[in-house]
Amino acid sequence: MPIKNRFAEMLPEIMAWRHDFHAHPEILFDCHRTAGIVAEKLRQFGCDEVVEGIGRTGVVGVIRGKSTQSGRVVGLRADMDALPIHEATGVDYASKEAGKMHACGHDGHTAMLLGAAKYLAETRNFDGTVVVIFQPAEEGGGGGDEMCREGLMARFGIQEVYGMHNWPGNPAGEFAIRPGPFFAATDQFEIGVEGRGGHAAKPHYCVDTTVVAAQLVVAMQSIVSRNADPTLEMVVSVTSFVTDSQAFNVIPQHVTLRGTVRTLSQDMRDLAEMRIKALAEHTAAAFGAQAHVDYRRGYPVMVNSATETDHAVAAARAVSGQCADAPLVMGGEDFAYMLQERPGAYILVGNGDTADVHNPAYNFNDTIIPAGCSYWVELAEQRMPAA
Ligand SMILES: [Zn+2]
Ligand SMILES: [Zn+2]
Repeated sequence: MPIKNRFAEMLPEIMAWRHDFHAHPEILFDCHRTAGIVAEKLRQFGCDEVVEGIGRTGVVGVIRGKSTQSGRVVGLRADMDALPIHEATGVDYASKEAGKMHACGHDGHTAMLLGAAKYLAETRNFDGTVVVIFQPAEEGGGGGDEMCREGLMARFGIQEVYGMHNWPGNPAGEFAIRPGPFFAATDQFEIGVEGRGGHAAKPHYCVDTTVVAAQLVVAMQSIVSRNADPTLEMVVSVTSFVTDSQAFNVIPQHVTLRGTVRTLSQDMRDLAEMRIKALAEHTAAAFGAQAHVDYRRGYPVMVNSATETDHAVAAARAVSGQCADAPLVMGGEDFAYMLQERPGAYILVGNGDTADVHNPAYNFNDTIIPAGCSYWVELAEQRMPAA
């Protein structure tokens, strides 16, 4: 039976898992319930090894093929965490946790990888080892980074690793990918501007931090427009401007600016950090104020390796008959850490015409489950053909 037909048959079961995860969303590393269910199911499926507690609540399952002569070990990764958003979908399996929601479809990712694990453990129609990886804290916590730091790749002998994300706006169940840099590095900055507060009617006795910080917001627009190579991508966004006074008649002593930087190369990342620091310090100095910059590097650029991208395309084509070229994404992805350790590829599967991810009306599209599951199985079986 073609893989896709088998998953069409398994669809009600996989959907039920997904809806259960959806009703009980968990944030960041607090994926205890989800991880417990994942581990229990992997054991039920007959995985050769199930390990919990890697990267706090991460779970890993090992499935050996009918033979392991090839010596090949392929990692397949899903994320399990939800977002601090109040759900507004109105579905009957909506979140039971106020202010928490599976608004990025990680419930679907977890359910699809579980479906693939069940199939692979039943059929074992490959020569090698599949390692299924379920990570917490993709949404800003660096759960994938933590799993890697705890030796995920070496411990299970993973040689190549693959990830997948649903993509609203792309046709349901159709795949898209690109080799090389794909998702951006995501950095944060916080700038504290310290002046001399005082009476708003006596500005000449003050160093007005709002004026300094306003100059700085404008000056930072020059990083992208004047410092960065115009053929390369960069985003610098100031997202918060907070003074320490809410009064009408007080010049604030302190202003805090916050924002994010998105880049697709190390050089651009270094440039952004250097320019933000220089502009903050010198702009403040020019007005007699002081600035302190806290620049925090987040997820690195996510880079698909060329060969493994070709493997992903071959598996996607076997499932959907096509695989589109994806555009660059200025969002970040924790899977970047896994791709720093091993060659691999991250693919998008279309979620159809739904609300965008991170929107309260978003929902994962259950009809794409057979395509997603089949992709995982195709990839494993193509990379490790049965002897
Ligand atoms: Zn997300
Ligand atoms: Zn996501």
